[in-house]
Amino acid sequence: MNKFRFFIILLFLAFATGGFILFNNDRNVVQSKKINLNFEKAALQNSSLQYSLRWTLGRKPQRGWYLYVSLLQKTLKTEADAKSAEFAKAVYRWQVGRRLKASGVLNQKTLYSLIKYWQSKRIRPIYLAKENQLLTAHISNFYDPTRDVELLKVEKETFKAYKKMVAAAIADEDLNLKVDKDSNLSAEEQFFKLISTYRSPAYQAGLRKKEPNASRAQIAFKSPHFTGRALDIYVGGEPVTTKDFNRAIQVKTPAYKWLVKNADKFGFYPYFYEPWHWEYVPKSMKKAE
Ligand SMILES: [Zn+2]
Repeated sequence: MNKFRFFIILLFLAFATGGFILFNNDRNVVQSKKINLNFEKAALQNSSLQYSLRWTLGRKPQRGWYLYVSLLQKTLKTEADAKSAEFAKAVYRWQVGRRLKASGVLNQKTLYSLIKYWQSKRIRPIYLAKENQLLTAHISNFYDPTRDVELLKVEKETFKAYKKMVAAAIADEDLNLKVDKDSNLSAEEQFFKLISTYRSPAYQAGLRKKEPNASRAQIAFKSPHFTGRALDIYVGGEPVTTKDFNRAIQVKTPAYKWLVKNADKFGFYPYFYEPWHWEYVPKSMKKAE
């Protein structure tokens, strides 16, 4: 009799647990379906916001974030298309990490938090390089073979890191870069060549005089180029024009995409707004701050 009662209790327990597991599983399925559905919705919003989101840089009104998709993918640790639910999920993860309202929608607040993060990787504060920190790089490293010898200066460690990075780019067969017999970028190759490196305050002032209509943002008073650690690297299109149509060309080139993926391994970090502008900020420099 006791055995029988025990058996009944056992049977009851078995049913109860089974039911509970089943019920709970159902709930999980419903819940994850709901979440996935929300990511689909967020993806739909992202696919339009990438061209339409209104935001400002300084006082300059901006439209959309499509020019920054490669950078976003790098930072959000996803390779998914900006229109996909997978990308929305990555945005959601970022929002959770930054304690933003987590929706998977790349809205203004989220974009600003990403920009803040990108900007935090740059040279700060800007200082003026001492003459003994600079070297004069060979003209063959430059985009313009007629560039004045006074404009070939670059900070020593930065140049070393740049050469390492270019060697890695050359080794990447997908980029198909043209090289000479010494395995340097050949004279015909434009990608990865240096457009502008160290700029003295006097030279920067001259640039402003030449283009009195250029805005403050376009020709900075306090340029990271003063440090000799900022490099303008050719990534396609007009070398240094911020017009959206030009940047749209630049951000699609294999050279730019390669830099976004790999430059940090060599200590280089981008200025998100200028696809050509990269700053050398090695770990040792970060610690010094
Ligand atoms: Zn620059």
